Amino acid sequence: DTAAAASAASAASAVPAPELTERERELLSRVPDGLYIGGRWEAGTRDPIEVSDPATGRVIKRIANAAPEDGIRALDAAVEAAEAWAATPPRTRAEILRRAFDLLQERRDDFALLMTLEMGKPLAEANGEVTYGGEFLRWFSEEAVRISGRYGQNPEGTGTMVVSQRPVGPCFLITPWNFPLAMATRKIAPALAAGCTVVVKPAELTPLTTLFFAQLLTDAGVPAGVVNVVQTSTAGALSEPIIADPRLRKLSFTGSTPVGRRLLAQAGQNVLRTSMELGGNAPFVVFEDADLEKAAEGAMLAKFRNIGQACTAANRFIVHESIAEEFAARVTERVQALQVGRGTDDGVTIGPLIDERAVASMGELIADASSRGARVLTGGSAPEGDGYFFEPTVITDVKPGSDILNEEIFGPVLAISTFATEDEAVATANSTEYGLVGYVFTRDLARGQRMIDRIDTGMMGLNTGLVSNAAAPFGGVKQSGLGREGGLEGIHEYLSPKYTLIPAS
Ligand code: NAD
Repeated sequence: DTAAAASAASAASAVPAPELTERERELLSRVPDGLYIGGRWEAGTRDPIEVSDPATGRVIKRIANAAPEDGIRALDAAVEAAEAWAATPPRTRAEILRRAFDLLQERRDDFALLMTLEMGKPLAEANGEVTYGGEFLRWFSEEAVRISGRYGQNPEGTGTMVVSQRPVGPCFLITPWNFPLAMATRKIAPALAAGCTVVVKPAELTPLTTLFFAQLLTDAGVPAGVVNVVQTSTAGALSEPIIADPRLRKLSFTGSTPVGRRLLAQAGQNVLRTSMELGGNAPFVVFEDADLEKAAEGAMLAKFRNIGQACTAANRFIVHESIAEEFAARVTERVQALQVGRGTDDGVTIGPLIDERAVASMGELIADASSRGARVLTGGSAPEGDGYFFEPTVITDVKPGSDILNEEIFGPVLAISTFATEDEAVATANSTEYGLVGYVFTRDLARGQRMIDRIDTGMMGLNTGLVSNAAAPFGGVKQSGLGREGGLEGIHEYLSPKYTLIPAS
């Protein structure tokens, strides 16, 4: 009986966790606990990684922990599979990705619950991530058969120029913990569509979703060695030799700017192609002519989605001084209606933060801002009890120079400062090393267009608090990164143009 076999297998790897429901235990028992190398699940030789539920702080599963030599073996497998995968017809690659999309819809509830368990986001949001993450599979299944180049006469009229697009080759993909599924599909889907093989290193805090997804890809027909997964507790030690290996042709990273800088320096040694999706410090500008209901709704999405732990999260609410009080009152009312708790519980809209350090950081940012004259309108502290919770918070009158305006908050704290003129709003919005996304609320279209032109970011939301879409090029300027994921652009991160001259005879 397969259920009995599965629960016997889980008894070996899963930890007795009395707070888990039967459904949760059963799901966790079906999540692979190995390293995935060359189409085989391996146990690993080091002390396991303990994955915990941030809502309780308790370990929910122990899984294999890759050593640096495991990382190199995963690269061996990706290199070995590269030629055959690049030669696989685009239609075949497309159909495999499409099957993966379909399987993900079938397994939607499992993926959503798994993300809530290991990352903490409310179940409804985890479901939203299954939709968003899945769209990359569908989008790039459609793009796989549309890869094309150019053909033309050279200007001298002495020959024909042919430009084709070739897969770059084996890729190393490093993902963060905040969107365990979408950050993986946003890289894996275009890589596979382009004909590249990959080694994936998920964040050690949330590796289960990637392991479960690797199983899904295999079920969808991805051949052995095309996708390999090496989760590890020693990210730097595993990554460095992979990045230094001349067989690797591409590094795609999503995570913090400091780690991105370090990886870029390593990649420079081999002039490795890179994509970098790094941190953000999004301005959210509200003009005096804005629809304040819409602005408040947009603020809730841009700030509290994913418990504030998104690179696109609005970090600085820059509000015209004439309406700042009214705007603060409207968001405060909404924030007080949020419900904090374990993401699996009915009605919960704010789950836990990812770890204890994140909770401490919220307290420090609020203390710094308060010491410079900011006022806490609601929230402001961590509730008693288990798990890494922090009250959703609104602070206003935040003064220039406060840490909260310069750092990624990455938590449920909405910080309001004010401006008087449009030029001042632009200057404030741009006064950051980051340039990922900006949000502007105004009823004046001409003003909206000026702001779109003048705010220095890779993405803008005009009268909306959510811009992510698989069909759009996601990415930033300045220290928010290099390259784009999604859209028509996304697949080109995994392709190299190859030009051939054919002289006229
Ligand atoms: P992080 O930089 O700490 O970790 C990201 C990944 O890098 C993880 O897999 C981690 O294990 C790995 N890593 C850490 N040190 C490494 C090293 N020395 N060598 C190789 N790999 C290493 O970031 P995080 O805390 O997981 O994620 C939050 C950050 O990610 C925020 O800054 C957020 O803005 C950013 N982010 C950006 C985007 C985007 O698309 N721009 C999307 C999501 C998150």
